[in-house]
Amino acid sequence: MDFDLPAEDDPRRLEVRAWLQANPKPGYALLFDQGYTVPHWPRPWGLGANPELQLIIDDELARAGIRAPHHKNPVPINNCGQSLLRHGTPEQQERFLKPALACEEVWCMLFSEPSAGSDVGALRTTARREGDHYVIRGQKMWTSLADKAQIGVLVARTDPSAPKHAGLSQFLVDMKSPGITIRPIADMSGESGEYNEVFFDDVIVPADRLLGKEGDGWKLSMQQLQTERVALSRPGAIWGSGPSARELVDGLVAAGRFKNPLVRDEAVGLWIEGEILRLLALRSLSDRMNARESGPEGAVRKMVAAPHGQRVLDLAKRSQGVAGLVKNRDVLPMTQAERGPFSNWDHAFWWSPAVTLGVGTQEVLKNVVAERVLGLPREKDPTRHTPFNQIGKAQPTQKEAA
Ligand SMILES: Cc1cc2nc3c(=O)[nH]c(=O)nc-3n(C[C@H](O)[C@H](O)[C@H](O)COP(=O)(O)OP(=O)(O)OC[C@H]3O[C@@H](n4cnc5c(N)ncnc54)[C@H](O)[C@@H]3O)c2cc1C
Repeated sequence: MDFDLPAEDDPRRLEVRAWLQANPKPGYALLFDQGYTVPHWPRPWGLGANPELQLIIDDELARAGIRAPHHKNPVPINNCGQSLLRHGTPEQQERFLKPALACEEVWCMLFSEPSAGSDVGALRTTARREGDHYVIRGQKMWTSLADKAQIGVLVARTDPSAPKHAGLSQFLVDMKSPGITIRPIADMSGESGEYNEVFFDDVIVPADRLLGKEGDGWKLSMQQLQTERVALSRPGAIWGSGPSARELVDGLVAAGRFKNPLVRDEAVGLWIEGEILRLLALRSLSDRMNARESGPEGAVRKMVAAPHGQRVLDLAKRSQGVAGLVKNRDVLPMTQAERGPFSNWDHAFWWSPAVTLGVGTQEVLKNVVAERVLGLPREKDPTRHTPFNQIGKAQPTQKEAA
């Protein structure tokens, strides 16, 4: 593998480190002004940085104990902001990009619905054009950050007579608009800060909030769901934000539990799996640094990493014996202080089941691997070419089903 981590005395690294020493608590606005929020974006939003420089900046921010802006405002920084850069009007870019990247306006992603999670093409929320605005009606589900967001990226059906993937469009919606109701959903960690249901009851959205063209919604949504940051080398649980198997072993040693042969056996197995994941991540990073196209390996990694992280957190709890059965913040020492909500093992454990669902369920990822890695036949969707408003009304013809 032709990949070397940028050295400790790399001049680019020293420059970032010097800036962080001069600005020890920079805040999100200053990080944005410096180009450190999205270094790989073109100027004036980022630095036009290659993956290596981005890795250095990520590394140095973590080392300085600074919580990276993508934790605060993941939707524009990780997923949807680039659509605005590529497909937004100059007025939209002027209005939305800086407040999003400086974390002054939080965004949420309004895709999933009660009958449209894995299959976004099945969504039923409608956006009806009336003069210079659209009227939105429907319900969204599992929306992270909806209760904190000022802006929502909404996918809605603008043409019910088109086939299901063709009639969708995206909008940038003010989350305080009249007619929007947000209801939090409690999860089993006992907290209700993660997801919400969002109801749209004839919400007026100005036509200039359409992102891209009418009918572009499916294309934009797929691009956004596939976008991933270049920070690829972190092997931690919970999408890389939680503790890793290495930290589990360190914690078990520090707590004296590594002496238990059963715990040790399991922990060493997880440590090896964690190393394999770390090397897979470095391989993806190497591909990026050498301008090679990424393939479906992101799906493979997510499919292996999500249950791996769950097992790491599970062992941290079980190693505690009976006390581990209850909600208990004092599970193991944690080496890295700044992880936001995942800065203790217990909360991360109760939260971790979500990671085998969010950003693609295990089963859907297995379909990707089956079709794109193993070359098995594609899953059939008999309604693919049927006008959406005719689905369920009549059986598709053989031609439509093909
Ligand atoms: C932590 C977290 C945060 C989230 N944040 C957001 C957010 O901010 N915005 C948003 O829009 N959504 C969000 N979601 C929703 C998430 O995208 C959906 O939960 C996910 O797409 C799965 O959809 P679903 O829950 O409706 O399950 P369904 O799609 O109904 O699936 C139910 C079951 O059927 C299986 N299944 C479905 N289709 C197939 C198939 N073709 N082949 C085999 N098996 C299949 C699934 O794997 C699953 O086991 C979040 C979810 C989580 C867990």
